[in-house]
Amino acid sequence: MEKQNKTAFICDDNLGKLAKLLKACGYDTLFQKTIADGELIAKALAEDRTIISRDRRLARKGAPENLLIIKTDDPDEQLKDVLLSLGLKPEFKDWLTRCLECNILLAKVSKEENKNRIPPYVFFTQSEFFKCSNCDKLFWKGTHHQRMMERLLKIMG
Ligand SMILES: [Zn+2]
Repeated sequence: MEKQNKTAFICDDNLGKLAKLLKACGYDTLFQKTIADGELIAKALAEDRTIISRDRRLARKGAPENLLIIKTDDPDEQLKDVLLSLGLKPEFKDWLTRCLECNILLAKVSKEENKNRIPPYVFFTQSEFFKCSNCDKLFWKGTHHQRMMERLLKIMG
């Protein structure tokens, strides 16, 4: 009886940094800066998402079975905890494929068509560009990307 949807999450409103890390791993993760317990639970049920929270009282407020209570403060440790608890191993090909703000999968876009939005140095050193269709932000595999990749590698050991 495996009912748990392990790869879609909704994070409680004090787990914003963890939500970003989950998105960085490629997981569909909802997060709002403020969310009432009732709304959190309703969304999780409606979209079959695993709730990640630090509030152990949620279980008594009608939270679904797929509820994961996090005990650590450090976002990197929290991510480790989620992956270990649910037996997940994020696939490398999915890393950094989502907008960390909007939770939307990034689409590859033409470098030439976005030339006026790309700093000259980046334009001459990068070949691949991606865009979030929600916030319209452009992404490329620069130093920020590199640092996040290294951070994820470290977390996953
Ligand atoms: Zn976005």
